[in-house]
Amino acid sequence: MPLKKHTVKLAIIGGGHGGRALLDLLYDDPTVEIVGIADLNPKAPGMTLARRLKIPRTTDYRKLLQSNDIELIMDVTGNLKVRRELAQTAPKAEVIGGHSARFMWEMIEARIKSRNEIERLLLEYQSLYDLGLKLTASENPEKLYNTIVDYATSLTNTPAGSLTIFEEKKGEMFLAAVKGVSLQFSKQTRWKVRQGGLTSHILNQDEPLAIQDVRHYERFDNPIMLREGIRSLIASPLKTEGRIVGILYVDDFRPRPYTAREISLLSLLSTFAAMAIEKTKLLESTRILAITDELTGLYNHRHFRQQLNLEISRAERYRRSLSLMMIDIDYFKQYNDTNGHLKGNEVLKDVGRLLRTMSREVDIVARYGGEEFAIIMPETERRKARAFSERLRKKIADHPFENARKQPNKKLTVSIGAAAYPENASTAFDLIEQADRALYEAKRSGRNLVCVSNRKVK
Ligand code: GH3
Ligand code: MG
Ligand code: MG
Repeated sequence: MPLKKHTVKLAIIGGGHGGRALLDLLYDDPTVEIVGIADLNPKAPGMTLARRLKIPRTTDYRKLLQSNDIELIMDVTGNLKVRRELAQTAPKAEVIGGHSARFMWEMIEARIKSRNEIERLLLEYQSLYDLGLKLTASENPEKLYNTIVDYATSLTNTPAGSLTIFEEKKGEMFLAAVKGVSLQFSKQTRWKVRQGGLTSHILNQDEPLAIQDVRHYERFDNPIMLREGIRSLIASPLKTEGRIVGILYVDDFRPRPYTAREISLLSLLSTFAAMAIEKTKLLESTRILAITDELTGLYNHRHFRQQLNLEISRAERYRRSLSLMMIDIDYFKQYNDTNGHLKGNEVLKDVGRLLRTMSREVDIVARYGGEEFAIIMPETERRKARAFSERLRKKIADHPFENARKQPNKKLTVSIGAAAYPENASTAFDLIEQADRALYEAKRSGRNLVCVSNRKVK
């Protein structure tokens, strides 16, 4: 048979903060039955709460004590007269008052505070968790980096912060995002990680490093941060599955101790940030892989087609010209037959590299297929396309490719066909056809030649 718990019948005298705290805590307690609360002021905080909780309340405590089965009275009035009267009116009840009552409600208040603190922490972690999900869902690296720094500074109440990303291949850090610092700070965007320096020290740690005052921290030697006036900081290493991703910094311009809570929040954020960064990096490299030709590192055919359509519509919209070049290696079958397929591959790579270095940043250089290449040149009219093609042809003919002398021309050469929008063609498809015809013409006329389309669009 279950033991029936005895409930204590309790009256609270005094509806100030003390009474309110008692009510708040004991209301849910199954071992206590609150008979009522009394205060001269019907608008006292305890009285207001009692009304909400539907607990009897009165401005005259004597009325409350008329119920003669009250076992416990808590007197938080601090009033000596009230206390004496209570003892006389309800002789059977136990009265807790004066210092003991005060002590009790202070203890209770502390418990309520810690309960609220736990709720606040839960909320904080909940929002951090939501942030984590949001971060891992973002696909644009720039935006992701800035969001991380924004959250880091707001979580730690700091006016400045930055995110640096580690590039393992180069052993370098690069500045991915900054907040709250001068332009000067963002000028140097890349640096080598020096063994024994602060950066390498932070990267070797698993937990954030908090520096209360950089002037009293010997290892701190970063001239840029010093010039910026940064006096205190937390540096949090970003790692995922043991791999180093980077460092997240939050900075302040005054010396300042960081609380354990701030440090642990930043540490948690760093975990999410590291995962999110790795994910976008992976997405980015997959995207690059999908548009790249494996052998030459140039754009592949599919991307070339997409870009050509894009560039044509752009040229159309802004009434600009655009040129297309088709480049085909002469007698390449013979090169393969003489030197083997692998040596042929080396030539393809070299030609690709030459095309890339000769062209501008905005030009789209692609491997069209086999031993054919294509270059899209935005903002380039027919005449300039011819001049550029001629320079390309010559550059390749003069390049010392291995065994070039064994080729029919005694050197390795290319033929180039060029066509321009809108002079020679009005659509992407048309432009490719015109460049192709010009290429065929260059081949027919003896190779190691440039031919430009003569077609006139009406
Ligand atoms: P032309 O001067 O008329 O262009 O003659 P060609 O021999 O260059 O032209 P053809 O189209 O007869 O031969 C192209 C050769 O390119 C045949 C093919 O084996 C070679 N080729 C295509 N792709 C690759 C590749 O990825 N690697 C190597 N090594 N050779 C390739
Ligand atoms: Mg060919
Ligand atoms: Mg060829």
